[in-house]
Amino acid sequence: MIPVLMPTYARNELAFERGEGAYLITAEGRSYLDFASGVAVTSLGHAHPHLVAALTEQAKKLWHCSNMFQIPGQTRLAERLVANSFADTVFFGNSGAEAVELALKLVRKYHDETGHPERYRVIACNGSFHGRTLATLAAAGNEKYLKGFEPVVDGFDHVPFENLNALRAAITPQTAAILVEPVQGEGGVRPASPHFLRGLREVADEFGLLLVFDEVQSGMGRTGKLFAHEWAGVTPDVLATAKGLGSGFPVGACLATERVGCFMTAGTHGSTFGGNPLAMAVGNAVLDIMLADGFLDRVDRMARLLRGRLDELARKYPAVLAEARGAGLLLGLKCVVPSVEFGDRLRHAGLLTVGAGDNVVRLLPPLIIEEKQIDEALAILDEVAGGWSA
Ligand SMILES: *Cc1c(COP(=O)(O)O)cnc(C)c1O
Repeated sequence: MIPVLMPTYARNELAFERGEGAYLITAEGRSYLDFASGVAVTSLGHAHPHLVAALTEQAKKLWHCSNMFQIPGQTRLAERLVANSFADTVFFGNSGAEAVELALKLVRKYHDETGHPERYRVIACNGSFHGRTLATLAAAGNEKYLKGFEPVVDGFDHVPFENLNALRAAITPQTAAILVEPVQGEGGVRPASPHFLRGLREVADEFGLLLVFDEVQSGMGRTGKLFAHEWAGVTPDVLATAKGLGSGFPVGACLATERVGCFMTAGTHGSTFGGNPLAMAVGNAVLDIMLADGFLDRVDRMARLLRGRLDELARKYPAVLAEARGAGLLLGLKCVVPSVEFGDRLRHAGLLTVGAGDNVVRLLPPLIIEEKQIDEALAILDEVAGGWSA
């Protein structure tokens, strides 16, 4: 008999009752150090007092009212994202996939309006992940996720990550845009080099293509800058973000320059729930903290500390771990042993992580992580790696 929950997830045995900062706690009172963060979502940890206050205060006033009305919190959050990024305009949705979908729509609309309706194809990279809708699955081109859901949405070409020559060779008169994750998350935690990201900008400009960054996972402070592409000193034309933006409240955003966003006039796109007052209250509260002086510098410091410790760990246990990799607090341990089992053992020992492609265990602590919690995580990692027997 089919379970009442459609069985699309291979769930583990744990159920949590509450969270406190970097910890999740079961009904029986066992506490786990959370380096999963709901897959890079609970950016400010669990039950952050400032976010709880913002959400509950808004909950007493107004939950939802439709985008046919002015929503002041939406304007404020958009203004703050614009002031702190390359973008001139923002659309709020509910998830990462929706933000990427809108990015793809913006690309088509831009070329249609500028006299090139034949330009509709998007070049994306092998090993990427862009969401689970039909178009975002096609964008990533991961056969494992597409299987059984054919026909694949048309309009996507794929090239190896980090290979600018292959990218140039894939451009045709139909090419409209390049879509890239500045740090591949799901696919195995692979940061793009600054050289590759700068090269993408040059190629896009040379051929009149739009550059779209999927920062659903790498954005919102995860790498120690508000957006990961800032490290490379390049800007995209369009950007999708989501996960960390609501620190656990569902919200996504598509950011664009005026040149691209200007064609999205009334009626061209919409979302019933997108940008509702609850989501906007939380998103603004998240930015209160992330944009405060020193917050992102502290993320960078903790990230370098953790990364150094993981490099040491990988050197200490070469039969278990191949390497540490990633950017900021979007980190991965490439395993020699089966990564799923390594993650299971970490969980049994009290440390929650997330799997990724390429036999990698992802470490995604909340951005508020403290040095003593990094020590605690490393003690568990050392115990599990050190005690490994197949
Ligand atoms: C998670 C993720 C998505 C999809 O986000 P959803 O909120 O699950 O739809 C898209 N792109 C990247 C890079 C992601 O990590």
